[in-house]
Amino acid sequence: MEKSIFEYMEEYGHEQLVFCRDEKAGLKAIIAIHNTTLGPATGGTRVWTYESEEDALVDALRLSQGMTYKYAAAGINLGGGKTTVIIESPEQKGEQLFRALGRFIDNLNGRYITGEDVGVTVGDLEYINMETDLVVGLPVENGGSGGPSPYTAMGVIGGMKACCKEIYGNESLKGKRVAVQGVGNVGHDVVKYLVEDGADVVVADVDENRVKRAVEEFKVSAVGVDEIYGVDCDIFSPCALGATINDETIPKLKCKIVAGSANNQLKEARHGEVLGQKGILYAPDFIINAGGTIADTDQFEGGFCPERARKKVARVYNNVANVIEISKREGIPTYKAANRLAEERIRKIGEINKLRVKVSKKLARASE
Ligand code: NAD
Repeated sequence: MEKSIFEYMEEYGHEQLVFCRDEKAGLKAIIAIHNTTLGPATGGTRVWTYESEEDALVDALRLSQGMTYKYAAAGINLGGGKTTVIIESPEQKGEQLFRALGRFIDNLNGRYITGEDVGVTVGDLEYINMETDLVVGLPVENGGSGGPSPYTAMGVIGGMKACCKEIYGNESLKGKRVAVQGVGNVGHDVVKYLVEDGADVVVADVDENRVKRAVEEFKVSAVGVDEIYGVDCDIFSPCALGATINDETIPKLKCKIVAGSANNQLKEARHGEVLGQKGILYAPDFIINAGGTIADTDQFEGGFCPERARKKVARVYNNVANVIEISKREGIPTYKAANRLAEERIRKIGEINKLRVKVSKKLARASE
């Protein structure tokens, strides 16, 4: 490993890491609890064939840090967490694996709430739910949202419109050329909404079946996975994995806007600056992809209500517009403006919480 575990925790600012192993279930998982100032650490489970344990650790650290910022900036009272599960082949996934993970989550007594991420289905969440109630994104009949992806896609479309308003003076997606990288759970719905809005869409995915499904269902065109970056378009929409905005890909981009669902799109923070220098407006990932998490957590308001969830998700448009405004006002790149928004809220609420603790201690002493 490049660094020790505690050096990694210090770098990303983590409170707690939980390493889970269940030999019989074939489970190797890392639960990363980043920050619980605003509430229990919440974030999905990602199951992936990681090349190394360190890759899985860094993914958990990066993704959970992103969740803290996402909830904070979206105005939700939850902290950031994430789980990565290391598998060698997809056949390892199943009831045994997910129930074993559910037991570990339950043992954390409410410090961590899980949900869906890459490599996990709603059915897998139901297995986790057999062992713990600390799950969001369950089927509607189980009191959940039915999965975050459609809501994430709705939010991405809202964020794209806010960016179009800034660049083109109006929010219409009609006639805009959009290159969508990854047509999985979210990307597929992003394409659906774009086509409904009259956009001209080009897609790419490493999974040929998914490309075929999008092309046949929506009559869009497709290019190779390496070609998608160079498509001459208005919007490049990363909806696959993270770190796709980097030194190799930025010179290829021929778009005015980067707006997609993928977590941790910038390989390094400085790539947010490079995009700005190239005149490309970047919709920060954790602001634009918050739709699913906003909808999921609606279940904590006395049961999930789709109408209320959709209304809340519509706020992603305002959140992206807000970030653009801060960025212009303070002369900083959009990714920094987004961080500022989130950090400010955590700091302010942290202060209120400290005051609350002090007051309740005083009251307890007074009543003794
Ligand atoms: P998914 O696994 O359903 O879809 C990802 C797709 O990307 C797959 O079809 C995969 O084949 C494809 N892909 C992988 N590498 C690729 C590459 N190099 N080039 C092109 N395609 C590639 O996952 P998802 O749920 O749709 O999530 C997509 C992204 O959005 C992830 O980064 C995820 O963390 C993020 N995200 C998802 C949600 C959600 O609601 N599901 C919410 C917030 C963020």
